[in-house]
Amino acid sequence: MTSRDEKGTNSSEKLDQHQASDISPAGSKDDDMGNPGVLQQSQAMALPLPSNTSNTISNQPPSAIPLSPETSSIVPLSRQQLKQKMKAKMTIDEIRRKMEKILKSGKYKMKVGRLIFWDFGGQYVYYTTHQTFMTYRALFLVVFDGSKGLHEQVSDVLCFPGQHMTPTPAVFLQHWVNCILTYCKAVYTGIPKILFVATHKDKVPKEDIEKRRTELYSGVEELFKDHEGRGHLIIDHKIFVNATDKTDPEINVLKKAITDLTFQHPCWGESMPNASVPLELEIANLVAKGKQVLLLREVEELNSISKVSVLSNKELRDFLQFHHSLGKLVYFDTPQLRGHVIISPLLLVEVMRSFVTDIAFWPKKGLIRNTFERMSGSGIIQRKDLYLIWEQKHFNKISPYKEFIFDMLIHLDILSEQRRYDVTTGSRLPVENFFVPCMLTQRNDTRFMTHECTPEKAISLAFVFKGTIIPPALPNRLISACLSMWTVKTYEGKQLLFSGFIGLSFDKAHDIVVCVEGNKIFLYIVHETSNGLIVPDIATGIKECMYTTLERISEFYKSTVKATSISQKLPFHIEYACSRLECHITEEAAQTTDEWICNKHKIVHTKDKWNIWNQDQEKEQCEEDCPGLTEDALIQVPSDIELQRFSSRFDETTIRELAIHLGMALQEWDDLKSNNPRCVQIVKYRILVKWREKCSGTFKNMWNALTKMELTIHMLCQVFKRILKCKCKESRILDLYKSACRNWALLLQTSSACLS
Ligand code: GDP
Ligand code: MG
Repeated sequence: MTSRDEKGTNSSEKLDQHQASDISPAGSKDDDMGNPGVLQQSQAMALPLPSNTSNTISNQPPSAIPLSPETSSIVPLSRQQLKQKMKAKMTIDEIRRKMEKILKSGKYKMKVGRLIFWDFGGQYVYYTTHQTFMTYRALFLVVFDGSKGLHEQVSDVLCFPGQHMTPTPAVFLQHWVNCILTYCKAVYTGIPKILFVATHKDKVPKEDIEKRRTELYSGVEELFKDHEGRGHLIIDHKIFVNATDKTDPEINVLKKAITDLTFQHPCWGESMPNASVPLELEIANLVAKGKQVLLLREVEELNSISKVSVLSNKELRDFLQFHHSLGKLVYFDTPQLRGHVIISPLLLVEVMRSFVTDIAFWPKKGLIRNTFERMSGSGIIQRKDLYLIWEQKHFNKISPYKEFIFDMLIHLDILSEQRRYDVTTGSRLPVENFFVPCMLTQRNDTRFMTHECTPEKAISLAFVFKGTIIPPALPNRLISACLSMWTVKTYEGKQLLFSGFIGLSFDKAHDIVVCVEGNKIFLYIVHETSNGLIVPDIATGIKECMYTTLERISEFYKSTVKATSISQKLPFHIEYACSRLECHITEEAAQTTDEWICNKHKIVHTKDKWNIWNQDQEKEQCEEDCPGLTEDALIQVPSDIELQRFSSRFDETTIRELAIHLGMALQEWDDLKSNNPRCVQIVKYRILVKWREKCSGTFKNMWNALTKMELTIHMLCQVFKRILKCKCKESRILDLYKSACRNWALLLQTSSACLS
């Protein structure tokens, strides 16, 4: 939108002005140049009316692509009027010359009210791509079928993307709200606004309509009453239409609501600098010629050749960011992506369509068909597979920019890296497999949950995001992270990888299940025979691992709501499940009580029920006279988990100094740091792994370094944990930690005979 409006004009006046005439430059009403803005809109309007699904777009030849990428519609001018304006016999160069003249005169003013409509694709494969087109400058309409109950299962939908729960209209409404609020930047309080619109009024008997309307909207109200984004939601309009009937009087109510909300939007009538108009036109010109991507360098050149105004570097960045927020171009200022500018966002629709597509559009046979089959089965794709898809003739616009596009898909969470680390050096290996969460559309249809993950064999806890936003991509990132840490379990011949559900093998005896339902992420640990045999250290380790991962992922998502909230706390808390795995007690409550009777089953649970998840708290402190680790323990090489525990107990500066005491070079620290700029936890851990590999490090070395730094050596008692199987009693597992401290020496002596 390029507009410069007088302040204080009220909204209805603005609409009238548009209707009267679509302006000419101020002070030059007779100038025959018209307005460059009109040209833009005219061309946009020359298109068939908007139905902006990927299919309709891709059917258009490049020449039909509007100057501005969005299919746009402006309320006031009739098509006829616009067409006539287009007939002006002026070439683009002439228009540009005229325009430059006006710009130089400093009298240029443009009032443009452009309404852009995006209709988000209905098939669920597209759901995870929607964030690409979300901007806080928009008004969002969330449309739902009002003839159905909010909590009725949607019959023709298999699953809900990223979630394992039953799809109901309520779930969809929550998804959309969360999605919009996550991906729209927080610029103005309460913006963007989300208006609910119920349809299918004609399916409800006339006499029941009002009752149904009240029910529907009190249902919606209830659904979001504790939602942090409540301030964005417009529920009280209670719009209920028959969308198939133009004459339904409520369609006018809806129109008025849209118009009012548009005029109330803080971006309406926003002033725009004239200085960027030449560059805007240059870019628009290239888009019209079918160009879709520019190197940043090329944009800089375009800018520098302008005879009228050259933007400074800072202004150019602002320009790109602003036009990105308008949806006119796509530009991300991150190290991987800042070298390119997508000047026609329609390209991204093409990109999505190239692989996030319904089975009906897959090639009938051949390599690419195989890729699609593999991808929909396993949710995994490799870089080269995607490059091959883009080599097809109809995607040849993507191919030249394949690396950049690929990185952008990662940035947008459409693909997610499955990281692998070299076991000996701890360094990251090149990523081969990418997880494509939106490909997983199957729900878990195996018997694993009913036959294996039972109250007899499993324990469970939940990470609960209540009262806050669970960013839709978060569960997918979590599943990606799990894929990087553990192997997917195969059960009865099937891989346990489904929408919002993953089963993993930890070791021969223990499995892990992660399952996403609404605002809860459930973690189960399943033992092959009985949950009484679950090793507490394993449970604690897995919980810690998931916790840190979730913490790290949550940081990535600065949602609209979070940014305005005062609380700096994590967006989730932990709840432990009862022994039937159904009721839950918050961690906070669990810590302050010795006994808990669960609601549903009235079973009494004692502290040790959740102590299994918190081994450290049990053993954090050594006895006063503890002399530290035994000689036997000190000659041991610390394991990964021990180093992880150790590193998490110290801050960055301490670990850096300690690493140097251990014999590492400062350069090694700096390298790790620049490879992992966002996560200091990883740097702290990896430097110790590197040290262990390079210097064959032992606990003794760590002891010496701690002593030199005058830090407590009991930190080692706290991190040293060994689980060894005791052969004399089948499946009984001893925790060598107890034997590592000299306090436990006696126990060590008595048990060492049966330790393997
Ligand atoms: P989308 O899948 O959410 O984009 O929904 P569509 O706009 O494509 O509508 C799906 C189907 O529902 C179409 O067959 C529409 O004609 C029909 N439909 C939409 N709104 C109404 C309504 O208010 N009443 C009736 N009877 N049908 C509707
Ligand atoms: Mg639709």
